[in-house]
Amino acid sequence: MDVAWMRAALGDMLADVEALVTCESPSADLAAVARSADVVARVGTRRLGVEPDRIVLDGRTHLRWRLGDGPVRLLLLGHHDTVWPLGSLITHPFTVDGDVLRGPGCLDMKAGVVMALHAAAALQSADALGDRASVTILITGDEEIGSPSSRELIEAEAARCAAALVLEASADGGALKTERKGVSVYQVRVAGRAAHAGLEPERGINAAVELAHQLLAVSALGPADRGTTVTPTLTTAGTTTNTVPAAGEFAVDVRVRDAGEQARVDAALHGLRPVLDGARLEVTGGPNRPPLSADASAWLYARAEVLAANLGLPPLTAAAVGGGSDGNLTAGVGTPTLDGLGAVGGGAHADNEHVLIAELPRRAALVAALVADCAHGLASVANRAQSIAPILVGTDDDERQ
Ligand SMILES: [Zn+2]
Repeated sequence: MDVAWMRAALGDMLADVEALVTCESPSADLAAVARSADVVARVGTRRLGVEPDRIVLDGRTHLRWRLGDGPVRLLLLGHHDTVWPLGSLITHPFTVDGDVLRGPGCLDMKAGVVMALHAAAALQSADALGDRASVTILITGDEEIGSPSSRELIEAEAARCAAALVLEASADGGALKTERKGVSVYQVRVAGRAAHAGLEPERGINAAVELAHQLLAVSALGPADRGTTVTPTLTTAGTTTNTVPAAGEFAVDVRVRDAGEQARVDAALHGLRPVLDGARLEVTGGPNRPPLSADASAWLYARAEVLAANLGLPPLTAAAVGGGSDGNLTAGVGTPTLDGLGAVGGGAHADNEHVLIAELPRRAALVAALVADCAHGLASVANRAQSIAPILVGTDDDERQ
């Protein structure tokens, strides 16, 4: 189950990545996502000898394998949908060139899905789970659009697990993602009153001017020193060039490092009041993904560093990133979470998306080692997650918020 073992499986891994990448799966296309789920199910069944549960929620297809029956429960989490529209294979075909593999969604995160399946297969054949641990592999179909249908499923699975390992792509240079910002999204709508801009503009209430006041107020909410960003994005107002705008609206993208900031910004957004006489204001939206804080990943990352050294891998690096993933959801229910354990490469969502092939067996071996280590280290402890993390890291601190 070491790197050499995984390297022997590299041919199979590449074939599996090709099978997944060549079945396009844009999140919004339910039929395409269902077809992709069929491919993932077939590949996984071949590797694991077990068929997955096929869970269809709001038409979106998610897959779940449960392996082993020990008391220590661990979650391997990934998604098989991508941001690439149907037809992307024509302009971005699957290719293997030297150490570089390309194709739509290869890095984010079809290679990661394959790594999870092969890591689990290695654990099975080494009998590393035994009666100590059980592993749930959850591969969802709507991560790229914010997990609207899979969120509750992910949270429920994570809540029963002692740790969640997320096979999203690593950050630059192969860094694991030990911190992800929380995400909130808002819509600010302004209602004024239309009037002819030439004949009687004074009878109007200019929604664009009100909007301008609110844009400035909102953009001042994010103190950079705390890592909070509050960014007005899509903005519209008015109807014609000679009409006082009667309505306008803008979207707000909020990123925070801790839950306190998420609550502060939420209160401030919902506390906005109109500036112009007669203007009305409506704010909708709120927190979408909670932050994955450094606390949530600390002990798993510490174990990963040791295991990487044991496997003969170069020292690991860690990164705090602004983008959210389903790792935010698993951390949000209090489950220790380590993210970015998937493929190493670059260009996610972009033309130069690629995966470094030599890293596939290394990282798959690391994932397998991490699961085996958790299974071994946690087996003697009651399976309540709250009591597990502190024991593993040897501290009495029972805070997991
Ligand atoms: Zn992803």
